[in-house]
Amino acid sequence: MKYPDNIIEVGTLLPDYMGFIFWEKSARYFDGVIPDLPKSIKKVGVFVNESIEVILAKAQKYNMQAIQLHGHESVEFCQELRDNLNSSIEIIKVFSVDDAFDFEVLKPFETVCDYFLFDTKGKLPGGNGTTFDWKVLEKYPSSKPFFLSGGIGIEEMEAVKEIAKTNLPLYAIDVNSKFEIEPGLKNIELCRNIRRDALQYVSTDNKIKNKIMSYNVNEKGYYGEFGGAFIPEMLYPNVEELRQNYLKITAEPEFQAEFDSLLKEYAGRPTPLYFAKRLSKEYNTKIYLKREDLCHTGAHKINNTIGQILLANRLGKKRIIAETGAGQHGVATATVCALMGLECIVYMGEIDIKRQAPNVARMKMLGAEVRPAMSGSKTLKDATNEAIRDWINNPVDTYYIIGSVVGPHPYPDMVARFQSVISKEIKEQLLEKEGRENPDYVIACVGGGSNAAGTYYHFLEDEDVKIIAVEAAGLGVNSGESAATSALGKVGVIHGSKTLLMQTTDGQITEPYSISAGLDYPGVGPMHANLFATKRAQFISITDDQAMQWGIKLSKMEGLIPAIESAHAFAVLDEMKFKPEDVVVINLSGRGDKDLSTYIDYFKL
Ligand SMILES: *Cc1c(COP(=O)(O)O)cnc(C)c1O
Repeated sequence: MKYPDNIIEVGTLLPDYMGFIFWEKSARYFDGVIPDLPKSIKKVGVFVNESIEVILAKAQKYNMQAIQLHGHESVEFCQELRDNLNSSIEIIKVFSVDDAFDFEVLKPFETVCDYFLFDTKGKLPGGNGTTFDWKVLEKYPSSKPFFLSGGIGIEEMEAVKEIAKTNLPLYAIDVNSKFEIEPGLKNIELCRNIRRDALQYVSTDNKIKNKIMSYNVNEKGYYGEFGGAFIPEMLYPNVEELRQNYLKITAEPEFQAEFDSLLKEYAGRPTPLYFAKRLSKEYNTKIYLKREDLCHTGAHKINNTIGQILLANRLGKKRIIAETGAGQHGVATATVCALMGLECIVYMGEIDIKRQAPNVARMKMLGAEVRPAMSGSKTLKDATNEAIRDWINNPVDTYYIIGSVVGPHPYPDMVARFQSVISKEIKEQLLEKEGRENPDYVIACVGGGSNAAGTYYHFLEDEDVKIIAVEAAGLGVNSGESAATSALGKVGVIHGSKTLLMQTTDGQITEPYSISAGLDYPGVGPMHANLFATKRAQFISITDDQAMQWGIKLSKMEGLIPAIESAHAFAVLDEMKFKPEDVVVINLSGRGDKDLSTYIDYFKL
């Protein structure tokens, strides 16, 4: 390693060792300051035929935990170094190996060093990028653990795994040139990939594992294998414009100030974190509700639409389109368009127009045009199709405000960032109320996944926070009338993103069903698909009936009439066992006003 920023970045992947080369002829020669690194990382000084004095001085100056000897150092030299070096510092002696290598030369070194390192015999000592034939290791006569080195790249990992399965004392792998952008500068994505890959066959505790796994999007728009931007040619300029600008614009101080101010003054943030006393008593655990139902327009959706309308403004767009299911996103979009004086068209499935009539009226009052989607199941998926069609036809002046963490990159990441204010506030509020930032559980319902993404965001890498995602099982997971994507879905592409998707054996999208329009979607966002695949989140599906009963229960017990979407999340309390000292945070994503007619019909109120 050579460059401070890069050292810090790679440090976040928690390698076991990190090396610094003190051989002046190397392009990776290190002569700087090593920034603070996590304690578990051992710093290794790499030397080539250096004097004992210099090695000792550098070891002390940089607080090295290991010394790698890469030249022709003799047994006597190693012994002298051992005698003078702090006994906790490891000595790693390197040997360049080729087919003719005589393993007998190692024997006298066994007592004077801690590890061997086998590198390819190349022009330079190390960093040549070529592997040696690892078959020669079959002749390794010793039980001394060794580092395997010499041009290891991702492609070599299968062969490394084979060696790891044998009785050879393979202790570590040493990677370098194949993971570089230039000498001494590591490509963080490649490093992360190999760290992930290695996790599959080395035993690493969960703490370290979660730190290494990133559950956020990478530069290419992927969460693990999910995400990307699968879009028609016609949409490319729009999506690309957004991709190139969203991080830049949202990082601007003026943008942030405007966003924060609107969240506070207009949307009513921060929303309270309410300790639900009666509920906690009944379930014998500590239950907090994040009150997104108190946001202006009645749900978390406004957090995202405020963010995106500010972005659309800065991109100079004059016409706004959106899709909506329950109508909450449509209302939130119509609201911010009224606020900014922009034209607004909302696509909504014909069925949803019927079951969410009050929201249709609200959108109209706010000046939006509501266009019915008549195809398929006439719900959210179909509304999204129509919105995408509109965007293709109006690529220049139109901005598409997507309402969840779905769609092509950068939408899932952008929406998750706008919604992440939810978990940011939870942390601050829990610190105040419980003396700790992290709860034991965060629970949220998942339609596309935006309220859930916001609720999980700042806890993703904190392994002590258990993440529960709640999907709609409709009439039952296997009833044929369900929207339980994690249980029923396979990898597929929907609305521009590769994710888990309910589909027939020939890849046709299955029509989803849920009593709650906001969860009635055949996919989940790519972030959630990855949380499912990596088992970071536990997925639970809840039926219509369970959710509806919770609509009544929460109303009667806490005086809170929940959106039917949110009611699904509460049913987890009946499905899981919590300890009395557990802190359980449930995101109350929205209020139930919009669902009154469904509640009336269901309960004959
Ligand atoms: C839209 C909506 C949902 C579902 O959408 P996500 O993107 O999964 O959050 C959940 N709850 C409420 C109240 C909604 O309005």
